[in-house]
Amino acid sequence: MIPPGSTIGILGGGQLGRMIALAAAPLGYRCHIFCPDDEAPAADVAATWTRAPYDNLAALDAFAAAIDVATVEFENVPAAALERIAAAKPMRPGANVLAVTQDRLAEKALATRLGIATAPYFAVSSAIEAGITARHLTGGAILKTRRMGYDGKGQIAIAAATPDAVVEAWRKLGEVPCILEGFVDFALEISVIIARGPDGQIAAFEPFENRHAHHILAESRWPAAIGPEIVTRAEAVARSLAQALDHVGVMAVEMFVTAGGEVLMNEIAPRVHNSGHLTIEAAATSQFAQHVRAICGLPLGSTERRADAVMRNLVGDAVLEWPKLLLDAGSHLHLYGKSEIRQGRKMGHVTRLFPLGAMT
Ligand code: AMP
Repeated sequence: MIPPGSTIGILGGGQLGRMIALAAAPLGYRCHIFCPDDEAPAADVAATWTRAPYDNLAALDAFAAAIDVATVEFENVPAAALERIAAAKPMRPGANVLAVTQDRLAEKALATRLGIATAPYFAVSSAIEAGITARHLTGGAILKTRRMGYDGKGQIAIAAATPDAVVEAWRKLGEVPCILEGFVDFALEISVIIARGPDGQIAAFEPFENRHAHHILAESRWPAAIGPEIVTRAEAVARSLAQALDHVGVMAVEMFVTAGGEVLMNEIAPRVHNSGHLTIEAAATSQFAQHVRAICGLPLGSTERRADAVMRNLVGDAVLEWPKLLLDAGSHLHLYGKSEIRQGRKMGHVTRLFPLGAMT
């Protein structure tokens, strides 16, 4: 157990780290941010900031010496940095979890091993493989880089997966190791956010329903428009993945639900997740407070829904709506303090609450 009064080290300086640090404060923890960026929304609300690249071993060692437990707020922290810190202090989640979730193929292979359904997928690491795998699919497909993809970056949709089209997409993505996925004609997208403590205790939030625009999450709704049977199956998928990975902390699993009621795993985020931001106002315990509890070995909080809610991301210029949003008593505005508005950049979010049961 890492008791209140201790210092949590967070690798990554974005808005997720900012909201973890804000949730850590009322539980009596201090946060120390480690990230190389010029601007760090998390560092603005944390006690300490080490601004250094993830391969600076001296800076990593000094960081590890100054904290009591370490966590991540984005999944692409280099494995070597995680291992360096893990040699000195508890690293939650562990490097093994990130090794799987940094690689879309390893992630899907884990799901398959656990009997969890996914879109049909094939490894593509050469032009020949790109051509051959295309023959296994009829209709549309998506080619994704195995590593470093997010918010639609590193992926190309292919309307008809002919060998020529897949080879061309593979060349466009830079001829790096990829995964070719069959296109899923889903009815809706959901995510399950689950927390797991070092002792294996687990608590899951009911699924969130997510809508994307231009590959970026636009809106999440709680509860999702799905029946209890799908809720149970979706939670079972998240539980099984968290246990198999021996994950510690909050983890999100994105899934597709088909018109026939099938639940397919899309991807795992081994961290707090954009679709759970509405838990700050709508749940008994926010996903951020839950993450702090999980990594510090405290009892997990109640995941009960206290209100129905809709969260909308303020992406790019949409953040300029803030004066209007402040006038709406039902809206809870969160701005991330980023100085420059850029297209596609998450600048903030707004959560609207509704009476419990109003959205079902
Ligand atoms: P990802 O980066 O894998 O989370 O994909 C981003 C978004 O692209 C997902 O949330 C879906 O909306 C869409 N997408 C990804 N993979 C597929 C697929 N196999 N079939 C249909 N849509 C997909």
